[in-house]
Amino acid sequence: MCIFCKIIAGEIPSGKVYEDETVYAFRDINPQAPTHILVVPKTHIGSVAEINADNSAVVAHIFEVIAQIAREEGLGNGYRVVSNCGADARQSVQHLHFHILGGRELTEQMA
Ligand code: 5GP
Ligand code: ZN
Repeated sequence: MCIFCKIIAGEIPSGKVYEDETVYAFRDINPQAPTHILVVPKTHIGSVAEINADNSAVVAHIFEVIAQIAREEGLGNGYRVVSNCGADARQSVQHLHFHILGGRELTEQMA
């Protein structure tokens, strides 16, 4: 099992923010902004590169969850959603995840 599958299964503790049947969200262990949350599908998908017609429903749902979490976390002034995919993007955990970053004005830098 990958590290995020272990977090979803409760084998590794995490700061849970949200959970339903298909999606889990938790606080990043090494936050890059005052609010830094990871939103993941419970099913193991390796990265954005593995999204396809058979598994994309959960991705649509993840974006509904992201909007809800952002409201609940008070990110009305804005936030950034990031998904690193593959080596050039320095993806370090090979389980699809979307970073929610906010709580301060973010830098212009995106890459
Ligand atoms: P990536 O670099 O793949 O886009 O992002 C992986 C993220 O997972 C990093 O921001 C890293 O801090 C976070 N992370 C890695 N291991 C753990 C963990 O065990 N618990 C939590 N909460 N976050 C983790
Ligand atoms: Zn996994």
